[in-house]
Amino acid sequence: MSSFNLDNYIRKVPDFPKKGILFYDITSILASPEAFLYCVDRMAEIYKDRDINAVAAIEARGFLFAAPFAIRLGIPLIPIRKKGKLPGVTLSKKYDLEYAQAEIEVHSADVPRGKRVLLTDDLIATGGTLNAARSLLVEGGAEVPEIFGVVGLPFLNYKKVLDPTPVTTLLDYQSE
Ligand code: AMP
Repeated sequence: MSSFNLDNYIRKVPDFPKKGILFYDITSILASPEAFLYCVDRMAEIYKDRDINAVAAIEARGFLFAAPFAIRLGIPLIPIRKKGKLPGVTLSKKYDLEYAQAEIEVHSADVPRGKRVLLTDDLIATGGTLNAARSLLVEGGAEVPEIFGVVGLPFLNYKKVLDPTPVTTLLDYQSE
């Protein structure tokens, strides 16, 4: 199990979605039941004894890993979505992208007050999206003791942005 090489299952696409970006595509993990199971098994192994009460995930690729993980641990899944997608009463947060602003939302009724929520996404780049998501959950009254990404790009300094929350990834790429 520990010798499994997840890197073999991540498609690298140069110049996507724009020139100069190396895109790490996790759909090739989903296409391999072995690699997908490896990721969910590892997540369960890491967090099963850490007193996590719920898992939150970012639309859309984050959902793919958090959903089987939530079922495996028997905990609620809290979807964090782009603005305008959730029908109920929401908390929302605007944040800056490179050249624009984005906004994410969560159903306020889904945020468990005083509970420990693991915040997840498929890939952590600058950490900007997860930082905004963490603010939403904290505003809703939850604790966010840990953040998880399947893939991390530490050269983009996400640890600084997400400090002091500990961040765990299954695989890091050191530079583009
Ligand atoms: P960020 O807020 O910069 O951490 O990244 C926001 C989202 O963009 C993450 O959910 C990733 O799925 C996606 N993303 C950013 N950079 C890349 C990349 N180089 N390859 C694949 N996905 C990326």
